[in-house]
Amino acid sequence: MSKIKIAELFYSIQGEGRYMGVPSVFLRTFGCNFKCAGFGMPRGELSNEVEDIAEVVHMFNKYEDLPLVSTGCDSYASWDPRFKNLSPMLTSDAIVDRIMEIIPHKEWRDEHLVITGGEPLLGWQRAYMDLLNHASMQNLAEITFETNGTQTLTTEFKDYLKDWGYKNDRSWCQGLTFSVSAKLPCSGESWEDAIKPEVVCDYEQIGYTYLKFVVANEQDIADAERAAAVYRGAGFEGPVYLMPVGGVESVYTLNAKNVALAAMARGWRYSDRLQVPLFKNEWGT
Ligand code: SF4
Repeated sequence: MSKIKIAELFYSIQGEGRYMGVPSVFLRTFGCNFKCAGFGMPRGELSNEVEDIAEVVHMFNKYEDLPLVSTGCDSYASWDPRFKNLSPMLTSDAIVDRIMEIIPHKEWRDEHLVITGGEPLLGWQRAYMDLLNHASMQNLAEITFETNGTQTLTTEFKDYLKDWGYKNDRSWCQGLTFSVSAKLPCSGESWEDAIKPEVVCDYEQIGYTYLKFVVANEQDIADAERAAAVYRGAGFEGPVYLMPVGGVESVYTLNAKNVALAAMARGWRYSDRLQVPLFKNEWGT
């Protein structure tokens, strides 16, 4: 039976994007191809906030006991190898058992499944098929992959997801969503590594796909425009969201309104981060 290395598995309200406000199970897988140490930092600088935490990692027994950070990747422990011992390898059966424990009716009803990371399409595509084939997953109707948009789908997984959409007796693009948070230069990642229009256009062949750019200032918004033009040029047709940077409330509230205005001015969508005002972005939210 397949196993997946799981950083977090919890039930909450989706705070971002298309399913904002929808009760959702979050499956946060371990591993990412990026570090995004530039978030929240002056241009060209990289955060080292996590270094102090890594030095005392032995003091933490659980992922959810780790401190939150205000710069860099806010889910650092879902990919940084120094925290890997806090993320167990779980079988499909164990994952499904846990899901059935945490959803209100012990079966899928209106809840949607968010497969996030780290980068969830990096290493577990084969294992997801095993998970979704489980008998208790057959009533699941809506899945979102929260991805950075750099990982190609294998032919096998792409075919599987196409069938999954039809099996659920829905128009294929309705139940399957790719929420693509493409990384702009403010993340600290290079443009060449992060902006992969051909990969995202491929997602759009089998699921509802949108771009979500995390921005803090005018330069970021200009970068988002440049990136959106590249995706459009490659044939991408889905919507574009702007979302304010900020895993902690003090950072987030500073620019939320300006980001909303910038989205409106371009005919783009605005995504909030409901988990910040509602839950302070604590682990498990
Ligand atoms: S792509 Fe996402 S999970 Fe990976 S380092 Fe960047 S913000 Fe963190």
